[in-house]
Amino acid sequence: MPNLAQLGGTPVRSNDRFLVYGAPLIEEAEIAEVTACLRAGWIGTGPRVHQFENDFRRYKGAKYSAALNSCTAGLHLAMFACGIGPGDEVITTPMTFCATVNAIIHCGATPVLADCDLTTMNVLPEEIERKITARTKAIIPVHFAGRCCDMEAIVSLARRYDLLVIEDCAHAIESEYRGKKAGTFGDIGCFSFYVTKNVVTGEGGMVITDDERLVGRIKTLGLHGMTKDAWSRFSDAGYKHYQVIHAGYKYNMTDMQAAMGIHQLARVEKSWERRAAIWSRYNEAFADLPCVIPADPEPDTRHAFHLYTVRIGPATKRDWVLEAMTCEGIGIGVHYVPVHLHPFYRKTFGWKEGDFPNAEQIGQSTLSLPLSPALSEEDVEDVITAFRKVAVAAVQ
Ligand SMILES: *Cc1c(COP(=O)(O)O)cnc(C)c1O
Repeated sequence: MPNLAQLGGTPVRSNDRFLVYGAPLIEEAEIAEVTACLRAGWIGTGPRVHQFENDFRRYKGAKYSAALNSCTAGLHLAMFACGIGPGDEVITTPMTFCATVNAIIHCGATPVLADCDLTTMNVLPEEIERKITARTKAIIPVHFAGRCCDMEAIVSLARRYDLLVIEDCAHAIESEYRGKKAGTFGDIGCFSFYVTKNVVTGEGGMVITDDERLVGRIKTLGLHGMTKDAWSRFSDAGYKHYQVIHAGYKYNMTDMQAAMGIHQLARVEKSWERRAAIWSRYNEAFADLPCVIPADPEPDTRHAFHLYTVRIGPATKRDWVLEAMTCEGIGIGVHYVPVHLHPFYRKTFGWKEGDFPNAEQIGQSTLSLPLSPALSEEDVEDVITAFRKVAVAAVQ
């Protein structure tokens, strides 16, 4: 690998045009709705949150939904509402964001990891099965990058061993598997509207379920454990007393967030089409490079095209590529350094190198290129030019 100064030439994008990784596409409709919300004066949890919940529930074909302030809150309350707590084990993948594992810990339960597949990067059902014990209560599959996990196998394991399934759909708003939508396979599906996700509200999350009892618990737990939210307490129907029935959390979404979400969701398919087109363009442009491009979506599934991950190893080379891309003015991501290798989890659970070889191999070689509907044609061509330049230099 040449040193970065030797890579040389003019950067593909100058510093003042640095392409920020994961920048969202915010349009006039969102801006107008947020402004209208501010003018209306109801900026807390109110009518816009209710509309967003209904729109999302309909989009996913679920019976119930609850908007929250993050997907992390959704995962936490999903487990809490299912009665998961100390002494219980919950199985998930090391190839995820730390929030998945933190939510398990916040419930007082013990996270147990099962390795993922090298190609799909999704948790392997046979690895899940190896980790099931008498204490196992739930499986949290993460649909990595927007590619659905093998839900047929996971749901069948859950039935066989009487386990809950809580889907981490942070990457998977638009995903489908054999005609069924991600988030509707198990007991509860949890979604994120963080700034880099496929639908954004700044910060935000949503849970969906067909279980009325569970959604009721999640709504109560997400707002201090109170029986009525402010919108129904202070409405023109007159003041209503509330009762606190749990030591709840403060996880509610606000109308300012929902104002964005309503219009982002209305454009979800258009944004998906744009990302799908960028994905194909990258596939063509990188086919001859010495790196591994993402596998095609499996037949009879719909990929959400949330992340475009390229593998170029070993770690020293990948890290060089990250730096070189930054020098070229292109922001990149890493999804992920596997959860078990972070210091807190090593210290707390004794996890170490070698525990999950596939996740580690991915973690050492992966990088994510910009994949946002906000990218212009010129941006996409700049990413391609820069990555080709850097990837070719990296193997010299
Ligand atoms: C982003 C993300 C989360 C957390 O979402 P927040 O809305 O930021 O809490 C959880 N799991 C995965 C896989 C994610 O990518």
